Amino acid sequence: MKCTRQSIRRGTKVIVVGAGLAGLTAAVKLKEAGAKVSLIEARDRVGGRVLTIRGAFAQGQHAEAGADFIDEGQHEIQRLVEEQGLTLRPILRQGFAFVRHPGPGRKRRHILSGEKAWDALARVLYPLVAAYRAADKRWDSPIAGQLARQSVAQWLDEVKADSTMRAVVRGLRGFFLADPEELSLLALVDQLAGDVSGQATMYRVEGGNDRLPLALAEHLREDLRLNSVVRAISQDRNSVRVNVETPNGQESLILGKYVVLAVPTTTLRSIHMQPPLPAMQARAIHSLKYGRTTKALLQFDKSFWRKKGRSLACGTDAPTGAFWDANEEQAGEAGILTMMAGGQASEDTQKIVAQCGVEGLVDALDWMGSRSATLLHSRIVTWEDDAWAQGGYAYFDPGFDPRLRDWLARSHGRIIFVGEHTSVNWQGYMNGAVESGLRAVAEVCAMVLKK
Ligand SMILES: Cc1cc2nc3c(=O)[nH]c(=O)nc-3n(C[C@H](O)[C@H](O)[C@H](O)COP(=O)(O)OP(=O)(O)OC[C@H]3O[C@@H](n4cnc5c(N)ncnc54)[C@H](O)[C@@H]3O)c2cc1C
Repeated sequence: MKCTRQSIRRGTKVIVVGAGLAGLTAAVKLKEAGAKVSLIEARDRVGGRVLTIRGAFAQGQHAEAGADFIDEGQHEIQRLVEEQGLTLRPILRQGFAFVRHPGPGRKRRHILSGEKAWDALARVLYPLVAAYRAADKRWDSPIAGQLARQSVAQWLDEVKADSTMRAVVRGLRGFFLADPEELSLLALVDQLAGDVSGQATMYRVEGGNDRLPLALAEHLREDLRLNSVVRAISQDRNSVRVNVETPNGQESLILGKYVVLAVPTTTLRSIHMQPPLPAMQARAIHSLKYGRTTKALLQFDKSFWRKKGRSLACGTDAPTGAFWDANEEQAGEAGILTMMAGGQASEDTQKIVAQCGVEGLVDALDWMGSRSATLLHSRIVTWEDDAWAQGGYAYFDPGFDPRLRDWLARSHGRIIFVGEHTSVNWQGYMNGAVESGLRAVAEVCAMVLKK
């Protein structure tokens, strides 16, 4: 029998844990395929790391405190957006520039085209990228093993990188959420070996990215339980049992045929499993790191950064991180600027705010003319402090054995693991979450057929 979406026996009970994009996609598509779904979510909202801030800003404007950009080539999420009757709006058409922060002995800022900075890095890394491609980008290959053990900082020393290249690579902490000392060289080489150009068109969902999780949740209504934390999962040959802590602190037991576990490994680690996970899988889950990141959304009475010929988005090695226009596609005189500080910059940004308040961040943008505008409202979100994420997204450090990567996405009996961190092509992206949710449907289908 061919495995089609319709081939899940009607009423097969599937418990999905986590109502981020991975869990929501899995739940909606499993329901469409005939399964009876229960979606369990710890927070009082759906969307997980997709978090649109509304109501906090003047002129009815909104901004993204979590995931922001949808890239060209991210077909799974684009299709889902379309299916839900939503629209994508192109943004930041000039792409990213790179602004080198002044340091000791250097008073002036230096602005480079993002494309040039990326190309210069790609040229130096080319021999390693070529070797990795020759190994079919396999994470169990000796070349991947060798790259994984080295940090990006060690490699920069080895190739005697100049100070501009070091600054550009440090600026990538706004992307990887890890500083060169924390990031494995394999993660950087893997990124450069991808087919995605550094300056592809980017989009946001019109009206806010959270419209996608909200639209998906509409299909689930009575199948969704908010404020409910999964504490333990046990299984035998025929069924699964999921222990849930309910909003009033009581425990309840849900029975089903399969579980789709769509939570980050940071919280997955504390879910008790019976029988336990295989040792390799437990090691993979426990050793995966999540990046620190603080996002500051600053609304000003005018968009002082929108100037002819100037890029609306900049990567930097500054302690306040990257910044970009958060709402060029929205109406109103006011404008919102996003500052996203990854890795050590997250801590540095928090220190600035603790010492000088949000004005400290405004001062850091003085060189762009921030003092000519009035700050109206601001919101700051630190993701490493978020109990249900404990970080922005996964990254691979030199302590992560690349041979373990497969284990992040392998099913354990009747438990299927999904989420951003399980995606090979789109790890760290909303598209990775959606893609993994679709994989869960195919896996449940295959398991049903096997029985
Ligand atoms: C600041 C920031 C910027 C980003 N920028 C981008 C971007 O521009 N583009 C992009 O594509 N991606 C971006 N991302 C990444 C993107 O947000 C994620 O890859 C994606 O949203 C992850 O979805 P997920 O479903 O895998 O996980 P999540 O969204 O984390 O969903 C998991 C859900 O599980 C719940 N949960 C956890 N533990 C339990 C438990 N024990 N019981 C019940 N529920 C539980 C959580 O509350 C959460 O709702 C960004 C992320 C951050 C934080």
